[in-house]
Amino acid sequence: MRYVSTRGQAASRSFSDVLLAGLAEDGGLFMPEAWPQFTAKDWRAMRGLPYPELAARVIAPFTEGSISQDTLLTLAREAYARFDHAAIVPLTQVEDGLFVQELFHGPTLAFKDMAMQLLGRLFDHVLTERDEHVTIVGATSGDTGSAAIEACRGRDRLSVVILHPEGRTSEVQRRQMTTVPDANITNLAVRGTFDDCQDLVKGMFSDLPFRRDMRLSAVNSINWARIAAQIPYYIYAALSLGAPDREVSFAVPTGNFGNILAAWATRQMGLPVRHLCVGSNRNDILTRFLNANDMTMHEVIPSLSPSMDIQVSSNFERLLFELLGRDHAVCARIMTGFRTTGHMDVPDKTWQAARTLFSGLALDDVATTSEIRKLWKESGYLADPHSAIGIAAGRAAREPGIPMVAMATAHPAKFPDAMKTATGIHPALPPALADLFDRTERYQVVDNSLPDIENTIRSATLRNSH
Ligand SMILES: *Cc1c(COP(=O)(O)O)cnc(C)c1O
Repeated sequence: MRYVSTRGQAASRSFSDVLLAGLAEDGGLFMPEAWPQFTAKDWRAMRGLPYPELAARVIAPFTEGSISQDTLLTLAREAYARFDHAAIVPLTQVEDGLFVQELFHGPTLAFKDMAMQLLGRLFDHVLTERDEHVTIVGATSGDTGSAAIEACRGRDRLSVVILHPEGRTSEVQRRQMTTVPDANITNLAVRGTFDDCQDLVKGMFSDLPFRRDMRLSAVNSINWARIAAQIPYYIYAALSLGAPDREVSFAVPTGNFGNILAAWATRQMGLPVRHLCVGSNRNDILTRFLNANDMTMHEVIPSLSPSMDIQVSSNFERLLFELLGRDHAVCARIMTGFRTTGHMDVPDKTWQAARTLFSGLALDDVATTSEIRKLWKESGYLADPHSAIGIAAGRAAREPGIPMVAMATAHPAKFPDAMKTATGIHPALPPALADLFDRTERYQVVDNSLPDIENTIRSATLRNSH
């Protein structure tokens, strides 16, 4: 499988190259040259497979030419061995026709582990084969950072630098990142928003000498391998609920558009997906787009669901590229315009095409809290603020006879204050994290300045390699 850039100015690459490169050098995102196709017979043959086996089969066409299905299976078995639920991604019914798939049983209690645990191992595999070392830089609004750190800690072919917006992650989220003592991990708290952090990371990738010197690599959801690793659980849910002999719909609490893009990818691969629902908080750029073709950047407003406090949903570019019939010139023009004006000028036809498949629902903090309370009272289900938004979006778009599966993306114990307000319950952290608040933190506070941060990273990674 070869990969092309959404902006058309980068040479096509193999899976391993795309894994290490993250962002394409023309500023675009990598997309598979063609979508792997599975027939109804192929899908049926995957019913009942243990999750790592299903994952290896589904991901193999994307890594073809770089990593074999056997290697994938070994890595997937290791990646999901640390999950604290035997089903890895258990499915629960909460209402008629409304299901919840829990993606938070990994080491950092958020869905990012689903992809990151595999990615850390893929990086190690490829870098060992090539005898190379890279510096992974990432921006996080909370969960990506800890998932990346957990997946990469102690691996000597990787240095990891994570930028988070100072004071805008929950305390559990921050501590999960800053209490990891391994020397290959650096945490920077930026005086700014998540979007500022994301811009800084993009800035580092555009600074070609810095990128080359540091051998920069990314594990943000712009990395195609992350999307690929998020595809199997949608298939797992769909097969459990009767696909391919029945349609299914998915609802996803959405920030950077990475998780829901994986849901959409399953449809490109031949799974009968009926409808995709985007859930957002008051940072509702995606729902405004879906409802009114209004993709205009606003200020980021802090919410109860910090991992969705985002105004620039990077992975949307991948959907746009496909909806534009893979016209990279138009895609590049629209994305450059968005950067400069803060408004994305999407052709009416393209917007209509998006609306035939996607719908959006935004909940403010008050509505999120009442949704958490309702689920607890009426179904005995404890959903964290992110998951509650996804479930509400799914309920709103549910159709008779078609199962709606909402993705639960974080463990409620990650957001104890919100849970306590809504339900009176203060959920306990699982045993592996019980002493989190006693561990020593280690991080540096830095200004929102690209040159300063680049200098900090140079000296931090220099320290690591000596
Ligand atoms: C990252 C995250 C999201 C948003 O996922 P995207 O792929 O960025 O859309 C939602 N919920 C939680 C808990 C997350 O960590």
